[in-house]
Amino acid sequence: MSFDKKKFLRNIPAVDKIMKNQEATELFEEFPREMVLNAVKLILDERRKKILNYGSSDQMNLDGVKLVNKEEIIQKIDQMKEFSLKRVINATGIIIHTNIGRAPLSENAVNAVIKAAKYYSNLEYDIATGNRGKRYTHVKSLLQDITGAESGIVVNNNAAAVLLCLSTFAKGYEVIISRGELIEIGGSFRIPEIMQQSGAKLVEVGSTNRTHIEDYKNAINEKTKMILKVHTSNYRVVGFTSEVGLDNLNKLAKDYKLPLLLDMGSGNFMPAEELGLKDEPTVQEEVLSGADIVTFSGDKLLGGPQAGIIVGKNIYIDTLAKNPLNRALRVDKLTLAALEATLKAYVLGDEATADIPVIKMLKMSEAELKNRADHVVRTVKNKCSVFELSVCKDSSQVGGGAYPLHNIPTYVVSLDSTPLSVNKFESLLRSLNPPVIVRIKKDRILFDMRTLLDDEVEILPDIICSLA
Ligand SMILES: *Cc1c(COP(=O)(O)O)cnc(C)c1O
Repeated sequence: MSFDKKKFLRNIPAVDKIMKNQEATELFEEFPREMVLNAVKLILDERRKKILNYGSSDQMNLDGVKLVNKEEIIQKIDQMKEFSLKRVINATGIIIHTNIGRAPLSENAVNAVIKAAKYYSNLEYDIATGNRGKRYTHVKSLLQDITGAESGIVVNNNAAAVLLCLSTFAKGYEVIISRGELIEIGGSFRIPEIMQQSGAKLVEVGSTNRTHIEDYKNAINEKTKMILKVHTSNYRVVGFTSEVGLDNLNKLAKDYKLPLLLDMGSGNFMPAEELGLKDEPTVQEEVLSGADIVTFSGDKLLGGPQAGIIVGKNIYIDTLAKNPLNRALRVDKLTLAALEATLKAYVLGDEATADIPVIKMLKMSEAELKNRADHVVRTVKNKCSVFELSVCKDSSQVGGGAYPLHNIPTYVVSLDSTPLSVNKFESLLRSLNPPVIVRIKKDRILFDMRTLLDDEVEILPDIICSLA
């Protein structure tokens, strides 16, 4: 029997008619009339769309089309109240996970955001004089203190920082970069494309795995306005490689009076070894070794809000600040509030930075991770007995394109057998509120203890048992 679209469409009731029904009017005691009305409209709209897109596997009967009951309206109102952007629990072990929000903020940063959001502030107001102030003053001296740079400014993200630098100093001119550093980062940040947007012309030198100082030198001509060095954060060329160090590049740049721009990507203030990482200079060290301008993200290893931080010599930062493009890329007050609080922690020292979740996760000891895993397994076993759980050693990752080859030893809770298939169980975990994002390895579901926040360790056993 063929499906009679028109007949079904005709049977969709009128909004007014439903609103006069007892089913709807009873709801007016609980919800505002307009909310019920909007829910009914949405329900009818969806019904219309479903009929129009009818597929042979769809179940549809005329009574179902005609009736709108109370439960359906309440369900729709609940749906309308739900946010699209919502909290998830990160059990993936990837600390700076770009898809699920990169860096969670410290308690202090969150409180600063709330204050800045709720009240008026001296965002661009000099309280002492009553005159207009500059929004960058709130982080400038912190950036100077921490990095040792002469000055600093902040834009929306690091991609914007690189764009602003290239556009300001090399629009219509040439910028030299090593071929091995032409990177693409997730979310389509491609150095060549950014350079194109900035109006600067890219001059690639060297080969993918080896670049020498002569390669840079030979490429310099009267059109050259800048030398760019990019931290190849999400891949490594290993084996027969050679790159030109920052100090040598700096000498060359000075000889030819060219600014040297370093895009650090992650940008850590703490020595890498303290974070359990290796081979990575700090921002301070890069500033000291002579880069004129250094850019990095606020929400990677720094553990703050999304931002592109630019530090460097006064003459360059002042010029950047005056570029009209800077106005288009400027950070909002909520970002500034979170960034100031995060930077302050670095000035205050270890105890303060321990509250930055990214730092805390990186520094978490194996003993603490094992404790967490033991606690989760023990609690689940006490609460429900369907699952076979074990505590295993595994490895977490930094994420955010940083330290691609670096595995950090961790402890996981492994779900060794589930009532459903591993993939079904994984999607069930995602359907919870809040969704739990896990990793699957060798047909087992792993909950990495490193990326859980403290309170999440406490609620995880209940979450697991809710699926028993
Ligand atoms: C991550 C990264 C970027 C982009 O930074 P966003 O803050 O994501 O815009 C640029 N360059 C490098 C080297 C990076 O690692």
